[in-house]
Amino acid sequence: MRESPIRPTVDFSADGEQHGFLKLPYSRDDSAWGAVMIPVTVIRRGEGPTVLLTGGNHGDEYEGPIALSKLASTLKASDITGRVIIVPFMNFPAFQAGTRTSPIDAGNLNRSFPGRPDGTVTEKIADYFQRHLLPLADYVLDIHAGGRTLDFVPFAAIHVLPDAAQQARCEAAMRAFGAPYSMRMLELDSVGLFDSAVEEAGKVFVSTELGGGGSASAASVAVAERGVYGLLAHAGVLAKEAFEAGESGRTTTLLDMPDGTCYTTSEHSGLLEMCRDLGDIVKEGDVIARVYDATRTGAAPVEYRARRGGLVAARHFPGLVQTGDTVAVVADIVERNIPVAI
Ligand code: CA
Repeated sequence: MRESPIRPTVDFSADGEQHGFLKLPYSRDDSAWGAVMIPVTVIRRGEGPTVLLTGGNHGDEYEGPIALSKLASTLKASDITGRVIIVPFMNFPAFQAGTRTSPIDAGNLNRSFPGRPDGTVTEKIADYFQRHLLPLADYVLDIHAGGRTLDFVPFAAIHVLPDAAQQARCEAAMRAFGAPYSMRMLELDSVGLFDSAVEEAGKVFVSTELGGGGSASAASVAVAERGVYGLLAHAGVLAKEAFEAGESGRTTTLLDMPDGTCYTTSEHSGLLEMCRDLGDIVKEGDVIARVYDATRTGAAPVEYRARRGGLVAARHFPGLVQTGDTVAVVADIVERNIPVAI
């Protein structure tokens, strides 16, 4: 296959702290010989595991970019054993525009894997992660939130995998992340996901959904920051003993999305009334949302009912809803308040 056009300005094999860029040539009207410069930090000390930390896979999700920017500016090589690669704004053009997808090519990075070295800008980014960064990593944490159109209870997530041993390693890493909730997640469609690329490469992978609405809160950022340190300690990059001291009493509630009945999809466009909030417990058949025809008055709203009992884990965020939008996700509660374990 063709070489990637992306060149890092950092040396991934060098000890110390380096702050540089993944340089992707991008010729355009305002810069004939220009480039997309994706910020990257690599911190290495000696031999040990490599943890790849990513945010901004979708450009309108902010917990990852904030937590990883803070980490990149504070973590020192003397703090660690092994290597940490930090990319806070993975789809950098989308991040700069504050949008889920790239303004250059409308590319959704998390639907673009394995990517192409001779494709669009977004496909070139995917290809570089697929063929150059993934092979370096033992652990990958990709920090997501709901963006402008979804909102979530804060959870770390893994998928059910064909390799039970790999799934167990991912679950252990998810528990070390220690979000208030930990989810076995079912994807609507797993084709093209960074998640699938990492999992198929046999790595330990944890993703998150830490809030949403196109912004971040003090609470959701705190979950991300604590989770990053938990995962680094779990991987052995940070000393476990030092980290565990402040962690006693922390718990997470284990959730599961066993099948498609978790999802409630709108079959109408209009004005959305959420009748239950994130974190609420619902029974099968409970009304969780109403959609009003906002082109007229006097018509009864359409009711959307929970297709299973459980915890409201996600919701549509904007006040208007379109046919085909996910209105809510109801997840099973597997076990409440299990201790976080590094
Ligand atoms: Ca996302």
